[in-house]
Amino acid sequence: MHLIDASTQLCAVIGNPVEHSLSPAMHNAAFESLNLNYVYLAFRVEDLAGCMAGMRAMASFRGMSVTIPHKIAIMQYLDDIEPMAQHVGCVNTVTRENDRLTGSITDGVGALRAFEQAGISLDGRRILFVGAGGAVRAVAFAFAELARVDRLTILGRTSARVAALVNDLRARTPAFVRSGDLSADLAEALTSHDIIIQGTPIGMFPHNEESPIPSEFLRPEHIVFDMVYRPLKTRLVRAAEDRGCKVILGLEMLVHQATLQFERWTGVPAPLDVMRAAVIQRLQQE
Ligand code: NAP
Repeated sequence: MHLIDASTQLCAVIGNPVEHSLSPAMHNAAFESLNLNYVYLAFRVEDLAGCMAGMRAMASFRGMSVTIPHKIAIMQYLDDIEPMAQHVGCVNTVTRENDRLTGSITDGVGALRAFEQAGISLDGRRILFVGAGGAVRAVAFAFAELARVDRLTILGRTSARVAALVNDLRARTPAFVRSGDLSADLAEALTSHDIIIQGTPIGMFPHNEESPIPSEFLRPEHIVFDMVYRPLKTRLVRAAEDRGCKVILGLEMLVHQATLQFERWTGVPAPLDVMRAAVIQRLQQE
């Protein structure tokens, strides 16, 4: 690691827990590869007010990632919140600019970048989301605000949660949005949508052999994006590959959203390949 000295800028992730965060590996590898005098640490935080007062008081604090359970509560401690984060209702990135703390959200735009990098256009697409939690919310808002999709359909198991997301999307974005029940409507929805975005924890380690979508429902025309990145290739991803579908791994969203943070904090284009390699190396060690 490069020398840490009196000019080193501090970036961090705060959450509880944070022990399994892959962000330190990604960001420190990027700082090192570009020889930037930055360091990125993970802080388990219970006292959010105290943490924010401390960060604000330190001139070398440059920015941080925010994870569960602080993504909503942190908003009250910030000076500015960007429109996308306001619409989604949470913040995953804090940046210090001219002594002001600005909150933003990079998950959704990270997913957009992953599609862009895979050469997949979203224009005129029918997008099916499986799940209605925080990650789907972030990506659905980015797609609704920044892409020219035909429609977004949200399928979930808890109707109140699906309805809340769909109502927020309809109220705050111009997108055409539909809702449905995950068990009752999945089969029909798969016949009428091009892109499937899996945003539940189903298939996540240690439940590697579970999938929310029976493989016989997949067609080669489907593009499948599974947000889960532990394991790197979920059962759904493996089944989609076997059926001839294009796939995007959850890892790609993770890495691309981190590149957006990196660029905010440093003002320098992020070394995507270095960050991706650092995450893959860490995941393979687990
Ligand atoms: P979350 O807010 O807890 O939402 C989880 C969603 O999945 C909810 O809609 C939940 O439904 C649904 N769900 C959970 N278990 C289910 C089951 N057995 N059957 C049907 N639906 C189920 O979680 P999140 O933050 O959105 O994260 C979701 C997944 O995305 C996680 O695996 C996480 O690791 C991954 N993720 C990836 C990235 C990335 O960068 N690739 C970023 C963020 C999250 P209910 O509302 O009914 O509980």
